[in-house]
Amino acid sequence: MKIGKLLKKGIFSVSFEFFPPKTPEGEDQLFRTVEELRELNPSFVSVTYGAGGSTRDRTRRVVEKIHRETNLTVMAHLTCIAHSKEEIEQILRGYRKIGIENILALRGDIPKDVSDFNFKGCSYAKELVELIKNKFGDYFSVGVASYPEGHPESPNMEWEIKFFKEKVYAGADFSITQMFFENDFYYRFLERCRKAQINIPIIPGIMPITNFKQIKKFALMCGATIPQRLVEKLEAVESKPEEVEKIGVEFAIKQCEDLLTNGVPGFHFYTLNKSKATLKIYKAIKNLIPTR
Ligand code: FAD
Repeated sequence: MKIGKLLKKGIFSVSFEFFPPKTPEGEDQLFRTVEELRELNPSFVSVTYGAGGSTRDRTRRVVEKIHRETNLTVMAHLTCIAHSKEEIEQILRGYRKIGIENILALRGDIPKDVSDFNFKGCSYAKELVELIKNKFGDYFSVGVASYPEGHPESPNMEWEIKFFKEKVYAGADFSITQMFFENDFYYRFLERCRKAQINIPIIPGIMPITNFKQIKKFALMCGATIPQRLVEKLEAVESKPEEVEKIGVEFAIKQCEDLLTNGVPGFHFYTLNKSKATLKIYKAIKNLIPTR
């Protein structure tokens, strides 16, 4: 099923993001999680890709395994900075061959320790979207990333919207946002997008907080603001993982409830390959979710 088509029909989308594990134990854990979350009948699941190309084979293997062994729709993430255009085409041909129809087209983070990074094929996600459209027509439904608080490299929100619009107009069907914890950032971002005639569905990315130290690091890297009131609550229980998770889950439930009352097109959960927090959040909000 093409994700763009599903969203066009107005069907509420629930999706889960996984990363390709490095070890057999990690893979067992991932597939237990896939089984547990499968019960929620997700619209699709997605598998991340290492920006440097390091997960090329692992991402492909996990995508293929989920696709073959479950009835789930899988979206493969693909970053372009470390690959030549020929390599990208080869990867995409491989996905087409096994029936994968959805790609999240990304640039990837530029390595911080390399001063004059050499882009092999595409310099921005927009060029990857163009490549997919030029070489594969409408075979793939293409998603792109969006940043309600602005991408860390964007000097301001005008810049953010300008280049977001370019990659959307290059042929993206939908977008998934970076994690955010203040819904107002998302609402303001949507307003800016609508004013700029960006009309594709923009699915909020929801990160359940289960580990405060880890989330602080992620938030810093991607420029997401953790509200001070939440920081204080989490700091008070930092050494008690179960308490942290409880607060994180309660926060995400409230966040999703508010998003639902404002008519979002779906939710994309960053699962970190674990099911517990996501299951709890989903169960708490499922009666508010429009019929799927
Ligand atoms: P782009 O859209 O290319 O934008 C990057 C920056 O360049 C922005 O500041 C933009 O404003 C600016 N820009 C764009 N075009 C131009 C131009 N022509 N001139 C000047 N500036 C321009 N990373 C991974 O490595 N693997 C993953 O699997 C992965 N999955 C992700 C999933 C989601 C939902 C999100 C939100 C992010 C994900 N990322 C992933 C992170 C992403 O790769 C990084 O945020 C990366 O730095 C930017 O990627 P992009 O596709 O948004 O880039």
